[in-house]
Amino acid sequence: MTKYDYDLFVIGGGSGGVRAARIAAGHGAKVAVAEEYRFGGTCVIRGCVPKKLLVYASRFRDEFEDAEGYGWALKTPHFDWATLIANKDAEIKRLEGIYRRNVEGAGGKIFDTRATLADAHTIVLAADGRKVTADKVLVATGGHPVKPDIPGIEHAITSSEAFHLEEMPASVLIVGGGYIAVEFAGIFDGLGAETTLVYRGEKVLRGFDEDMRDGLMAELFKREIDVRVNVNVAAIEKNWGDYTVTLTDGSTLDVECVMFATGRSPNTANLGLEQAGVKLGEQGEILVDVQSRTSAQNIYAVGDVTDRVNLTPVAIREGHAFADSVFGKKPWSMDHDLIPTAVFSTPEIATVGLPEHEACKVYPNLDVYLARFRPLKHTLSGRDEFVVMKLLVDRDTDKVVGCHMMGPDAGEIVQMAAIALKMGATKADFDATVALHPSVAEEFVTMRTKRAAPAKPATKAAPKKKGYDETS
Ligand code: FAD
Ligand code: NDP
Repeated sequence: MTKYDYDLFVIGGGSGGVRAARIAAGHGAKVAVAEEYRFGGTCVIRGCVPKKLLVYASRFRDEFEDAEGYGWALKTPHFDWATLIANKDAEIKRLEGIYRRNVEGAGGKIFDTRATLADAHTIVLAADGRKVTADKVLVATGGHPVKPDIPGIEHAITSSEAFHLEEMPASVLIVGGGYIAVEFAGIFDGLGAETTLVYRGEKVLRGFDEDMRDGLMAELFKREIDVRVNVNVAAIEKNWGDYTVTLTDGSTLDVECVMFATGRSPNTANLGLEQAGVKLGEQGEILVDVQSRTSAQNIYAVGDVTDRVNLTPVAIREGHAFADSVFGKKPWSMDHDLIPTAVFSTPEIATVGLPEHEACKVYPNLDVYLARFRPLKHTLSGRDEFVVMKLLVDRDTDKVVGCHMMGPDAGEIVQMAAIALKMGATKADFDATVALHPSVAEEFVTMRTKRAAPAKPATKAAPKKKGYDETS
């Protein structure tokens, strides 16, 4: 018999917390979860899921345009933001219910309130000030968007508010060059807003493979998104119906909506972590070991609050590993190597393994296989959009150490390629796999062309080309 109210108390009902709670309860632990906002966390409520639904919505425009070349004549399509948001909200509510039921169905207790730590074993429930105790505590409180401190910043929204705009803005300025900035640039552009992207660096998606970054920059320009690089926002001023945004180069823009996508910070403030003996890193993240254990012996942390790899499947796995290890007598730890990821820009980018600039440091004899081509679909649609696919191979072992793609369904394709890389596949294994024809994905098993020169970033629309495969 434990002397505590619970074997495990989870703070945060998001991806990592819910998985850990459900699995620990399944192992027989007495579990409680506190959630201060809505069950499901960032991913379900204001992240991956609603984002992907908006991405789908935004891509219909391309489909309508592409249909003409295939003989379809459509009346001018009309888009209604209110319908999209209402349908999205209904789906999110349904998912939220599933998350709750999953915890309760496994025997977990839910507290709909903010929770903080009074000490390493005592949790305070904000709703009524009640204190409960637990043997183990899991902190899975995620993160929140951050905005720089500039004049008028209070007028700018973040991704959290973007999902609940009452009306679709006619013009949007997005600040940042990471995942959220390029994803929302694609969403607003596809839905018909005049879209400007302001990024302080030279090209978007710092850290990604250069050929993917160049490929996406070229496509953003072709889509006539107003991409402004090497510049930042200096100030925002509210006018009657819109905002005047002054950039650091002195230029100004008038827009209906300003959205900052300038990164996220771990939710560690005012949680009582100090009095519980939990140490934080320089960015406010909870420091953990490979078992997700913090500096306090009985307190663990998973997901974005630890700022390791801030992706949903990672938070889920870290939570699962924690629950199996601590409550299931099945110890294992999350392997943070070879995590696939997709950026749902339009076109999207997906990647697993190292980008070329990192791979060449680790593997001195690196072969680079690169293909850039116009897919078959666009021979009839006439769309001037290219696919970029890349494999990086360590010549000494023949192992594929990086796989990158920009193009339709890149996320779906690279997810499958990630299995091969995780198994240690060689280029010979890829080559021995029969192509599935005609598909875009087959390029990965037919690649023969080693790259001669680095791809150049395009700054204006490339001339239209014929043929669906210009590289092999
Ligand atoms: P969260 O899911 O954020 O859950 C933390 C929960 O804790 C929240 O519900 C919060 O309300 C609650 N909480 C915080 N403090 C307390 C407290 N003191 N008491 C009680 N409850 C508390 N990842 C992907 O893999 N793919 C994507 O396509 C993707 N798209 C994204 C799009 C956007 C716009 C954003 C913002 C993120 C996206 N992510 C995506 C990242 C992904 O959402 C996160 O990595 C993931 O949600 C992290 O899970 P978590 O459990 O660590 O935290
Ligand atoms: P990111 O860290 O990906 O990007 C932040 C961007 O903001 C960078 O381009 C950064 O520039 C820029 N920036 C930071 N500070 C400033 C500033 N003061 N002024 C101007 N620009 C600034 O953060 P996001 O907010 O896009 O996303 C957060 C995380 O959520 C992602 O890293 C990812 O882990 C996760 N996510 C995953 C998604 C997916 O899986 N599809 C989708 C959305 C989010 P610089 O590059 O110069 O530092």
